[in-house]
Amino acid sequence: MTLPPKVWNQSEFASFVPPRCISYYLACLELNQEEVRRAVIPGRDSNIQGPRDRRDRPLRDLRISVTDRCNFRCTYCMPEEIFGERYQFLPREEILSFEEILRLTRIMVPLGVSKIRITGGEPLLRHDLPRLIQGLRDTPGVEDIALTTNGTLLKYMAGHLHRSGLSRLTISLDSLDPEVFHLMNGGKLDVAKVLEGIETAQGVGFNAIKINCVVQKGVNDHTLVDLARYGRIHGHVVRFIEYMDVGTRNTWDLQQVLSGEEIVARIGESFPLEPLAPNYRGEVARRYQYRDGGGEVGVISSVSQPFCGDCSRVRMTTGGELMTCLFASSGTDLRGPLRKGASDDELGEIIRCIWLAREDRYSEERGDLVQADGEDGLARRGRVEMYQIGG
Ligand code: SF4
Repeated sequence: MTLPPKVWNQSEFASFVPPRCISYYLACLELNQEEVRRAVIPGRDSNIQGPRDRRDRPLRDLRISVTDRCNFRCTYCMPEEIFGERYQFLPREEILSFEEILRLTRIMVPLGVSKIRITGGEPLLRHDLPRLIQGLRDTPGVEDIALTTNGTLLKYMAGHLHRSGLSRLTISLDSLDPEVFHLMNGGKLDVAKVLEGIETAQGVGFNAIKINCVVQKGVNDHTLVDLARYGRIHGHVVRFIEYMDVGTRNTWDLQQVLSGEEIVARIGESFPLEPLAPNYRGEVARRYQYRDGGGEVGVISSVSQPFCGDCSRVRMTTGGELMTCLFASSGTDLRGPLRKGASDDELGEIIRCIWLAREDRYSEERGDLVQADGEDGLARRGRVEMYQIGG
């Protein structure tokens, strides 16, 4: 069996793509060469065109980590004791340039990508970020650009970001309580800096700002209602995230997970809630609105109510590795073939092959894995670190 001649020779392709993907991909080609071919032709209509993975999920969302560095040391992501002053982050030459990111995005649009989320590390640490956002804004087929930040640099950057065409902002804020905030972010900057940044962002025109809060039982769960109240007062949508076993550095413990249901019950005691319909298929957060009209909150329940069935997200690390799941233990290097002179078609073929062969559903499997191997066993599996892909 050989690949369509216009793309790769077999050995080269095999050097870039995991074997398990190749065999499935070749089987796809054998089955319906014409159908698969058609999937990459640009000019998709409003329905998502492009390849579907082995669970019939389209590729729609690309999350781009633009830096592995951060000015926080959150205990569940980048604990100080590991990521101290001597920690070696990616050297500049191994980081994808803006031109490389834009090219890979252009290649992924015909495969279905229309929504971009910029992450890190802390993305606002990446120099000249508005220039990248402008480039993404000008990329045909990119319909929405969002960014997740810890908010500490927003006071200086919000105006530039807004002018460069950024559509939406999500700010990570685990507590309003200064001590709890410090405890969770590794004793770095004050919560006041984040609140100042949010205010500035609202002032320059960002509305419907989302606030992401990782809930760790026994750490910040006693401050949830204050954060909900803050969201009500300022018109922000707070999304409470169940504590997850992302990466291998956070000594995750199921006992520290407060389930989405418990979170809703807690907030509901002060501000009664009712469920809302999702905005779109595959939306990560479950939506609730306050019965008194005080706005809405979201709950992201990857542990207690997994949502892998509609997961249309792919992630790209700062160094150009494509990850098909937040909990992936390995990815596919795109920087290598890109810098070796691969054409757009050739790179597109690699990405299509990866997506067609994708069958990730880690959150659905987690329960069985914990039963089989225990939490330690989970950590030993090896997973990409949160700061490398930014959630
Ligand atoms: S666990 Fe993986 S497959 Fe499931 S929703 Fe998260 S990223 Fe998607």
